[in-house]
Amino acid sequence: MLVYIHVPFCITRCAYCAFHSTPLGRGVNPSASPLVRDYTDTLLLELAHWGDRFGGEAVQSVFFGGGTPSLLPPRIVGIMLDQLAKYFTLAQKAEITLEANPETFRDKNNAVGYLAAGVNRLSIGIQSMDETMLRALGRGHRAKDSLHAAFVARKAGFSNIGVDMLWGLPGQGVRQWLQTLKDMLRMNPTHISTYGLTLEAGTSLELDCAEGRIVLPPERNQAIMFTEGAAFLEKHGYLHYEVSNFARMGFQCRHNLGYWKGADYLGVGPSASSTLRGRRWTNPAVQKDWNAKTRTGQLDADAELLTPTTRVLELLMLRLRTTRGLEVKAYQKFTGRDLLADHHKFIQALHENGLIHIRHGYLSLTRNGMLVSNAILSNFFEQLSSTSALPPVAPATD
Ligand code: SF4
Repeated sequence: MLVYIHVPFCITRCAYCAFHSTPLGRGVNPSASPLVRDYTDTLLLELAHWGDRFGGEAVQSVFFGGGTPSLLPPRIVGIMLDQLAKYFTLAQKAEITLEANPETFRDKNNAVGYLAAGVNRLSIGIQSMDETMLRALGRGHRAKDSLHAAFVARKAGFSNIGVDMLWGLPGQGVRQWLQTLKDMLRMNPTHISTYGLTLEAGTSLELDCAEGRIVLPPERNQAIMFTEGAAFLEKHGYLHYEVSNFARMGFQCRHNLGYWKGADYLGVGPSASSTLRGRRWTNPAVQKDWNAKTRTGQLDADAELLTPTTRVLELLMLRLRTTRGLEVKAYQKFTGRDLLADHHKFIQALHENGLIHIRHGYLSLTRNGMLVSNAILSNFFEQLSSTSALPPVAPATD
Protein backbone atom coordinates (compact mmCIF):
# COMPACT_ATOMS: atom_id res chain seq x y z
CA MET A 1 0.00 0.00 0.00
CA LEU A 2 1.08 3.59 -0.68
CA VAL A 3 0.32 6.41 1.75
CA TYR A 4 -0.16 10.02 0.64
CA ILE A 5 -0.23 12.75 3.30
CA HIS A 6 -1.65 16.05 2.10
CA VAL A 7 -0.22 19.18 3.74
CA PRO A 8 -2.62 22.00 2.82
CA PHE A 9 -0.52 25.08 3.62
CA CYS A 10 1.62 27.43 1.55
CA ILE A 11 3.17 30.80 2.26
CA THR A 12 1.35 32.58 -0.57
CA ARG A 13 -0.70 31.43 -3.55
CA CYS A 14 0.97 30.95 -6.94
CA ALA A 15 -0.77 32.46 -9.97
CA TYR A 16 -1.49 29.10 -11.66
CA CYS A 17 -2.33 26.97 -8.64
CA ALA A 18 -5.54 24.99 -8.25
CA PHE A 19 -4.26 22.61 -5.56
CA HIS A 20 -5.96 22.61 -2.21
CA SER A 21 -3.89 24.86 0.06
CA THR A 22 -4.34 27.76 2.46
CA PRO A 23 -1.82 30.63 2.29
CA LEU A 24 -0.43 31.25 5.79
CA GLY A 25 1.24 34.52 4.75
CA ARG A 26 4.85 35.59 4.93
CA GLY A 27 6.50 35.61 8.33
CA VAL A 28 3.98 33.24 9.94
CA ASN A 29 5.61 30.56 12.06
CA PRO A 30 3.82 27.32 11.12
CA SER A 31 4.59 25.79 14.53
CA ALA A 32 2.66 28.62 16.20
CA SER A 33 -0.27 28.61 13.77
CA PRO A 34 -3.52 27.31 15.35
CA LEU A 35 -4.58 26.12 11.88
CA VAL A 36 -1.46 23.96 11.53
CA ARG A 37 -1.84 22.64 15.09
CA ASP A 38 -5.46 21.71 14.48
CA TYR A 39 -4.47 20.05 11.18
CA THR A 40 -1.72 18.03 12.88
CA ASP A 41 -4.06 16.80 15.63
CA THR A 42 -6.68 15.69 13.11
CA LEU A 43 -4.12 14.07 10.86
CA LEU A 44 -2.82 11.93 13.74
CA LEU A 45 -6.40 11.00 14.53
CA GLU A 46 -7.05 10.07 10.90
CA LEU A 47 -3.96 7.83 10.84
CA ALA A 48 -5.14 6.14 14.03
CA HIS A 49 -8.60 5.66 12.53
CA TRP A 50 -7.25 3.94 9.40
CA GLY A 51 -4.81 2.03 11.59
CA ASP A 52 -7.77 0.53 13.45
CA ARG A 53 -9.41 -0.39 10.15
CA PHE A 54 -6.43 -1.57 8.09
CA GLY A 55 -3.81 -2.00 10.79
CA GLY A 56 -0.71 -4.02 10.03
CA GLU A 57 -0.96 -3.51 6.26
CA ALA A 58 2.49 -3.14 4.65
CA VAL A 59 3.37 0.38 3.47
CA GLN A 60 5.98 0.60 0.71
CA SER A 61 6.06 4.36 0.31
CA VAL A 62 4.91 7.56 1.96
CA PHE A 63 4.56 10.85 0.09
CA PHE A 64 4.11 14.20 1.84
CA GLY A 65 2.55 16.37 -0.88
CA GLY A 66 0.82 19.69 -0.90
CA GLY A 67 0.62 22.56 -0.52
CA THR A 68 4.10 23.00 0.87
CA PRO A 69 5.01 20.08 3.16
CA SER A 70 8.39 21.65 3.93
CA LEU A 71 6.47 24.25 5.98
CA LEU A 72 5.93 21.52 8.57
CA PRO A 73 8.76 21.39 11.09
CA PRO A 74 10.75 18.10 11.01
CA ARG A 75 9.49 17.30 14.50
CA ILE A 76 5.89 17.16 13.24
CA VAL A 77 6.84 15.11 10.18
CA GLY A 78 8.58 12.69 12.57
CA ILE A 79 5.49 12.45 14.80
CA MET A 80 3.32 11.65 11.76
CA LEU A 81 5.71 8.96 10.56
CA ASP A 82 5.88 7.46 14.06
CA GLN A 83 2.09 7.36 14.18
CA LEU A 84 2.03 5.63 10.80
CA ALA A 85 4.63 3.09 11.92
CA LYS A 86 2.61 2.45 15.09
CA TYR A 87 -0.40 1.23 13.12
CA PHE A 88 1.05 -0.03 9.83
CA THR A 89 4.06 -2.09 8.81
CA LEU A 90 6.38 0.48 7.29
CA ALA A 91 8.72 -1.45 4.94
CA GLN A 92 12.34 -1.23 5.99
CA LYS A 93 13.37 0.40 2.75
CA ALA A 94 10.18 2.40 2.31
CA GLU A 95 10.56 5.44 0.07
CA ILE A 96 9.57 8.50 2.10
CA THR A 97 9.26 11.65 0.01
CA LEU A 98 8.75 15.22 1.16
CA GLU A 99 7.81 17.96 -1.30
CA ALA A 100 9.75 21.12 -0.58
CA ASN A 101 9.68 24.66 -1.90
CA PRO A 102 13.06 26.38 -2.22
CA GLU A 103 12.11 29.34 -0.03
CA THR A 104 11.24 27.02 2.85
CA PHE A 105 14.31 24.83 2.53
CA ARG A 106 17.20 27.05 3.59
CA ASP A 107 18.23 25.70 6.93
CA LYS A 108 20.65 22.77 7.14
CA ASN A 109 19.45 21.83 10.63
CA ASN A 110 15.92 21.43 9.32
CA ALA A 111 17.20 19.27 6.45
CA VAL A 112 19.08 17.08 8.94
CA GLY A 113 15.90 16.93 11.03
CA TYR A 114 13.83 15.62 8.09
CA LEU A 115 16.41 12.92 7.45
CA ALA A 116 16.40 11.95 11.12
CA ALA A 117 12.59 11.81 11.02
CA GLY A 118 12.81 9.21 8.24
CA VAL A 119 12.43 11.25 5.03
CA ASN A 120 14.80 9.82 2.41
CA ARG A 121 13.68 11.56 -0.78
CA LEU A 122 13.09 15.23 -1.54
CA SER A 123 11.06 16.67 -4.37
CA ILE A 124 11.83 20.37 -4.80
CA GLY A 125 9.31 22.53 -6.66
CA ILE A 126 11.63 24.78 -8.62
CA GLN A 127 9.40 25.11 -11.76
CA SER A 128 11.88 27.33 -13.63
CA MET A 129 15.37 28.79 -13.36
CA ASP A 130 14.33 31.92 -15.23
CA GLU A 131 13.51 34.93 -13.02
CA THR A 132 10.96 36.35 -15.47
CA MET A 133 9.10 33.04 -15.58
CA LEU A 134 9.18 32.66 -11.79
CA ARG A 135 7.63 36.10 -11.46
CA ALA A 136 4.97 35.29 -14.08
CA LEU A 137 4.05 32.18 -12.09
CA GLY A 138 3.88 34.15 -8.86
CA ARG A 139 6.42 31.86 -7.19
CA GLY A 140 7.85 32.93 -3.87
CA HIS A 141 11.45 32.02 -4.71
CA ARG A 142 14.26 32.92 -7.07
CA ALA A 143 16.55 30.66 -9.08
CA LYS A 144 19.38 31.05 -6.57
CA ASP A 145 17.06 29.76 -3.81
CA SER A 146 16.61 26.52 -5.78
CA LEU A 147 20.35 26.04 -6.11
CA HIS A 148 20.74 26.77 -2.41
CA ALA A 149 17.99 24.30 -1.41
CA ALA A 150 19.70 21.50 -3.35
CA PHE A 151 23.04 22.45 -1.79
CA VAL A 152 21.57 22.41 1.73
CA ALA A 153 19.85 19.07 1.11
CA ARG A 154 23.01 17.46 -0.18
CA LYS A 155 25.12 18.86 2.68
CA ALA A 156 22.61 17.43 5.15
CA GLY A 157 22.98 13.99 3.56
CA PHE A 158 20.11 13.65 1.08
CA SER A 159 21.19 11.57 -1.90
CA ASN A 160 17.84 11.28 -3.65
CA ILE A 161 16.71 14.75 -4.76
CA GLY A 162 14.07 15.32 -7.42
CA VAL A 163 12.88 18.56 -8.98
CA ASP A 164 9.57 19.66 -10.55
CA MET A 165 9.67 21.90 -13.64
CA LEU A 166 6.99 23.58 -15.77
CA TRP A 167 7.09 24.27 -19.52
CA GLY A 168 4.76 26.16 -21.84
CA LEU A 169 4.88 29.28 -19.63
CA PRO A 170 3.63 32.75 -20.64
CA GLY A 171 6.04 34.24 -23.16
CA GLN A 172 8.41 31.26 -22.98
CA GLY A 173 10.31 30.22 -26.09
CA VAL A 174 11.83 26.82 -26.88
CA ARG A 175 15.35 28.14 -26.37
CA GLN A 176 14.44 29.60 -22.99
CA TRP A 177 13.01 26.22 -21.90
CA LEU A 178 16.14 24.36 -22.92
CA GLN A 179 18.27 26.97 -21.15
CA THR A 180 16.26 26.59 -17.94
CA LEU A 181 16.74 22.81 -18.13
CA LYS A 182 20.46 23.35 -18.57
CA ASP A 183 20.58 25.70 -15.56
CA MET A 184 18.58 23.22 -13.50
CA LEU A 185 21.12 20.47 -14.18
CA ARG A 186 23.53 22.38 -11.92
CA MET A 187 21.46 20.92 -9.08
CA ASN A 188 22.30 17.42 -10.36
CA PRO A 189 18.93 15.92 -9.37
CA THR A 190 18.26 12.19 -9.44
CA HIS A 191 14.72 12.74 -10.71
CA ILE A 192 13.04 15.37 -12.89
CA SER A 193 9.32 15.89 -13.46
CA THR A 194 8.42 18.25 -16.29
CA TYR A 195 4.79 19.25 -16.63
CA GLY A 196 3.14 21.38 -19.29
CA LEU A 197 1.41 24.38 -17.69
CA THR A 198 -2.36 24.03 -17.71
CA LEU A 199 -4.64 26.98 -17.14
CA GLU A 200 -6.86 25.99 -14.23
CA ALA A 201 -10.27 27.57 -13.88
CA GLY A 202 -10.44 30.34 -11.31
CA THR A 203 -6.71 31.01 -11.11
CA SER A 204 -5.31 34.48 -11.65
CA LEU A 205 -3.20 33.18 -14.53
CA GLU A 206 -6.32 31.97 -16.31
CA LEU A 207 -7.92 35.38 -15.87
CA ASP A 208 -4.80 37.16 -17.17
CA CYS A 209 -4.81 34.89 -20.18
CA ALA A 210 -8.54 35.30 -20.84
CA GLU A 211 -8.20 39.08 -20.69
CA GLY A 212 -5.17 39.08 -22.98
CA ARG A 213 -2.59 40.32 -20.45
CA ILE A 214 -0.45 37.24 -21.03
CA VAL A 215 -0.10 34.82 -23.91
CA LEU A 216 0.94 31.19 -23.75
CA PRO A 217 3.33 29.82 -26.39
CA PRO A 218 1.65 28.48 -29.54
CA GLU A 219 0.79 24.78 -29.48
CA ARG A 220 3.46 23.93 -32.03
CA ASN A 221 6.15 25.46 -29.78
CA GLN A 222 4.76 23.64 -26.75
CA ALA A 223 5.08 20.35 -28.65
CA ILE A 224 8.70 21.18 -29.48
CA MET A 225 9.36 22.02 -25.83
CA PHE A 226 8.10 18.59 -24.82
CA THR A 227 10.03 16.60 -27.42
CA GLU A 228 13.26 18.60 -27.34
CA GLY A 229 13.19 18.82 -23.55
CA ALA A 230 12.84 15.03 -23.34
CA ALA A 231 15.67 14.51 -25.84
CA PHE A 232 17.87 16.95 -23.88
CA LEU A 233 17.31 15.15 -20.58
CA GLU A 234 17.92 11.75 -22.15
CA LYS A 235 21.16 13.06 -23.60
CA HIS A 236 22.18 13.99 -20.05
CA GLY A 237 21.58 10.51 -18.69
CA TYR A 238 17.97 10.67 -17.53
CA LEU A 239 15.67 7.80 -18.42
CA HIS A 240 12.30 8.94 -19.77
CA TYR A 241 10.07 6.49 -17.89
CA GLU A 242 6.68 8.19 -17.87
CA VAL A 243 5.12 10.95 -19.99
CA SER A 244 6.29 13.67 -17.59
CA ASN A 245 9.03 11.91 -15.61
CA PHE A 246 12.75 11.31 -16.00
CA ALA A 247 15.20 9.65 -13.64
CA ARG A 248 18.76 8.51 -13.26
CA MET A 249 18.92 4.71 -13.44
CA GLY A 250 17.45 3.25 -10.24
CA PHE A 251 15.90 6.55 -9.08
CA GLN A 252 12.41 6.25 -10.56
CA CYS A 253 9.85 7.45 -8.02
CA ARG A 254 8.56 4.24 -6.43
CA HIS A 255 5.48 5.98 -5.09
CA ASN A 256 4.36 7.09 -8.55
CA LEU A 257 5.31 3.74 -10.09
CA GLY A 258 2.95 2.22 -7.54
CA TYR A 259 0.10 4.48 -8.71
CA TRP A 260 0.79 3.63 -12.35
CA LYS A 261 0.75 -0.09 -11.57
CA GLY A 262 -2.64 0.28 -9.92
CA ALA A 263 -1.49 -0.32 -6.31
CA ASP A 264 -3.84 0.51 -3.43
CA TYR A 265 -3.25 3.90 -1.81
CA LEU A 266 -4.46 5.61 1.32
CA GLY A 267 -4.69 9.41 1.19
CA VAL A 268 -4.83 11.30 4.49
CA GLY A 269 -5.42 15.00 5.09
CA PRO A 270 -7.94 17.43 3.57
CA SER A 271 -8.82 16.74 -0.09
CA ALA A 272 -6.74 13.53 -0.22
CA SER A 273 -8.16 10.60 -2.20
CA SER A 274 -7.87 6.90 -1.41
CA THR A 275 -8.35 3.74 -3.45
CA LEU A 276 -8.32 0.72 -1.23
CA ARG A 277 -9.74 -2.77 -1.55
CA GLY A 278 -11.90 -1.88 -4.55
CA ARG A 279 -13.34 1.32 -3.03
CA ARG A 280 -12.53 4.99 -3.63
CA TRP A 281 -13.26 8.10 -1.60
CA THR A 282 -12.00 11.67 -1.25
CA ASN A 283 -11.67 13.56 2.02
CA PRO A 284 -13.42 16.93 2.35
CA ALA A 285 -11.17 19.78 1.24
CA VAL A 286 -12.35 22.26 3.87
CA GLN A 287 -10.40 21.67 7.07
CA LYS A 288 -13.37 21.95 9.45
CA ASP A 289 -15.42 19.47 7.37
CA TRP A 290 -12.48 17.07 7.27
CA ASN A 291 -12.10 17.46 11.07
CA ALA A 292 -15.77 16.66 11.63
CA LYS A 293 -15.80 13.60 9.36
CA THR A 294 -12.56 12.29 10.86
CA ARG A 295 -13.89 12.65 14.39
CA THR A 296 -17.08 10.78 13.53
CA GLY A 297 -15.30 8.11 11.46
CA GLN A 298 -17.34 9.04 8.35
CA LEU A 299 -14.54 9.68 5.85
CA ASP A 300 -15.34 6.74 3.60
CA ALA A 301 -19.07 6.64 4.28
CA ASP A 302 -19.88 7.54 0.67
CA ALA A 303 -17.08 5.56 -0.97
CA GLU A 304 -17.55 4.58 -4.59
CA LEU A 305 -17.35 0.88 -5.45
CA LEU A 306 -14.95 0.43 -8.36
CA THR A 307 -16.37 -1.80 -11.04
CA PRO A 308 -14.02 -4.22 -12.84
CA THR A 309 -14.54 -2.16 -16.02
CA THR A 310 -13.42 1.05 -14.28
CA ARG A 311 -10.38 -0.71 -12.88
CA VAL A 312 -9.36 -2.07 -16.28
CA LEU A 313 -9.86 1.30 -17.96
CA GLU A 314 -7.80 3.05 -15.34
CA LEU A 315 -5.07 0.46 -15.55
CA LEU A 316 -4.95 0.90 -19.30
CA MET A 317 -4.69 4.65 -18.91
CA LEU A 318 -2.02 4.50 -16.22
CA ARG A 319 0.13 1.88 -17.96
CA LEU A 320 0.03 3.73 -21.26
CA ARG A 321 1.48 6.79 -19.55
CA THR A 322 4.65 4.82 -18.82
CA THR A 323 7.27 4.33 -21.51
CA ARG A 324 7.23 0.60 -20.81
CA GLY A 325 3.56 0.54 -21.69
CA LEU A 326 0.88 -2.08 -21.29
CA GLU A 327 1.67 -5.76 -21.52
CA VAL A 328 -0.84 -7.18 -23.98
CA LYS A 329 -0.78 -10.59 -22.26
CA ALA A 330 -1.47 -9.02 -18.86
CA TYR A 331 -4.46 -7.19 -20.34
CA GLN A 332 -5.74 -10.50 -21.67
CA LYS A 333 -5.29 -12.06 -18.25
CA PHE A 334 -7.23 -9.23 -16.57
CA THR A 335 -10.08 -9.08 -19.04
CA GLY A 336 -10.14 -12.26 -21.09
CA ARG A 337 -9.99 -10.01 -24.18
CA ASP A 338 -7.43 -9.54 -26.93
CA LEU A 339 -6.67 -5.81 -27.02
CA LEU A 340 -4.97 -5.91 -30.43
CA ALA A 341 -7.78 -7.85 -32.06
CA ASP A 342 -10.60 -5.88 -30.39
CA HIS A 343 -9.15 -2.53 -31.48
CA HIS A 344 -7.36 -3.63 -34.59
CA LYS A 345 -8.30 -0.65 -36.79
CA PHE A 346 -7.61 2.00 -34.17
CA ILE A 347 -4.28 0.47 -33.15
CA GLN A 348 -3.23 0.10 -36.78
CA ALA A 349 -4.03 3.77 -37.46
CA LEU A 350 -2.02 4.84 -34.40
CA HIS A 351 0.88 2.68 -35.53
CA GLU A 352 0.83 4.01 -39.08
CA ASN A 353 0.92 7.55 -37.72
CA GLY A 354 3.92 6.82 -35.54
CA LEU A 355 2.00 7.27 -32.28
CA ILE A 356 2.50 3.84 -30.74
CA HIS A 357 5.08 1.06 -30.55
CA ILE A 358 4.25 -2.63 -30.23
CA ARG A 359 7.42 -4.26 -28.97
CA HIS A 360 8.20 -7.43 -27.00
CA GLY A 361 4.52 -7.91 -26.18
CA TYR A 362 4.04 -4.32 -24.87
CA LEU A 363 1.93 -1.56 -26.35
CA SER A 364 3.39 1.86 -25.61
CA LEU A 365 3.13 5.45 -26.82
CA THR A 366 5.92 6.99 -28.87
CA ARG A 367 7.05 10.49 -27.91
CA ASN A 368 4.70 11.95 -30.50
CA GLY A 369 1.99 9.69 -29.13
CA MET A 370 2.64 11.07 -25.63
CA LEU A 371 1.96 14.55 -26.97
CA VAL A 372 -1.58 13.50 -27.83
CA SER A 373 -1.94 10.91 -25.08
CA ASN A 374 -5.16 12.43 -23.73
CA ALA A 375 -6.88 12.12 -27.10
CA ILE A 376 -5.64 8.53 -27.60
CA LEU A 377 -6.71 7.46 -24.13
CA SER A 378 -10.14 9.04 -24.35
CA ASN A 379 -10.65 7.25 -27.66
CA PHE A 380 -9.75 3.94 -26.01
CA PHE A 381 -12.07 4.80 -23.14
CA GLU A 382 -14.99 5.49 -25.45
CA GLN A 383 -14.48 2.28 -27.41
CA LEU A 384 -14.11 0.13 -24.31
CA SER A 385 -16.99 1.68 -22.38
CA SER A 386 -19.43 1.67 -25.27
CA THR A 387 -18.77 -1.83 -26.62
CA SER A 388 -19.05 -3.39 -23.13
CA ALA A 389 -16.12 -5.48 -24.31
CA LEU A 390 -14.92 -6.07 -20.78
CA PRO A 391 -16.36 -9.00 -18.86
CA PRO A 392 -17.14 -8.55 -15.16
CA VAL A 393 -13.96 -10.06 -13.80
CA ALA A 394 -11.93 -8.36 -11.08
CA PRO A 395 -8.56 -7.46 -12.54
CA ALA A 396 -5.35 -8.24 -10.70
CA THR A 397 -3.21 -5.14 -10.22
CA ASP A 398 0.08 -6.39 -11.59
S1 SF4 B 1 3.57 26.31 -3.73
FE1 SF4 B 1 2.52 24.70 -4.92
S2 SF4 B 1 0.65 24.25 -3.77
FE2 SF4 B 1 1.47 26.19 -2.96
S3 SF4 B 1 0.40 27.77 -4.08
FE3 SF4 B 1 2.29 27.37 -5.21
S4 SF4 B 1 1.76 25.78 -6.71
FE4 SF4 B 1 0.12 25.86 -5.20
